[in-house]
Amino acid sequence: MSCIFCAIVRGDAEASVVLDEGDFLAFMDIYPFLPGHVLIIPKRHAQYVHELEPAEQAGLFTAGARVAAAVRASPVPSGDVHFLVNDGPIANQTVPHVHLHVLPRTRGDLPKVFAALAKRPAVALLGQARRALLDEQAAAIAAAL
Ligand code: AMP
Ligand code: ZN
Repeated sequence: MSCIFCAIVRGDAEASVVLDEGDFLAFMDIYPFLPGHVLIIPKRHAQYVHELEPAEQAGLFTAGARVAAAVRASPVPSGDVHFLVNDGPIANQTVPHVHLHVLPRTRGDLPKVFAALAKRPAVALLGQARRALLDEQAAAIAAAL
């Protein structure tokens, strides 16, 4: 089975890692909705939240809460954050490996959110964020963990 997030876990695909601890990995989203967009995953492959063990479900959110606190404490602009899980393709899941989005919001950024939403269908054609920038943001967030 080919899964891009499993490839990241194995070290076979590039990622700007924020947190690598125990059963969980956090890295920058390659097509960020907004700056500082982080994904937290269980290292073990599962498509749906209900397929995770209860300890993995809890651990995923615990790791997400730590990352969100670090985002807030880092220089990456954030007022508050969204925690978001798209649990299955009908709910807009595009990578079939459970992931928790931590999406920083800043006051007055709604037009940017709408612009990102409008661009979403074409996102693969528009290109990914620069790796150097993602690495910089990952390091800044990791330093605040
Ligand atoms: P979802 O729509 O909830 O399945 O979100 C999947 C997210 O994974 C999207 O926001 C993508 O931008 C992101 N993504 C896809 N491939 C990669 C990758 N190789 N590295 C980091 N993020 C990725
Ligand atoms: Zn996977």
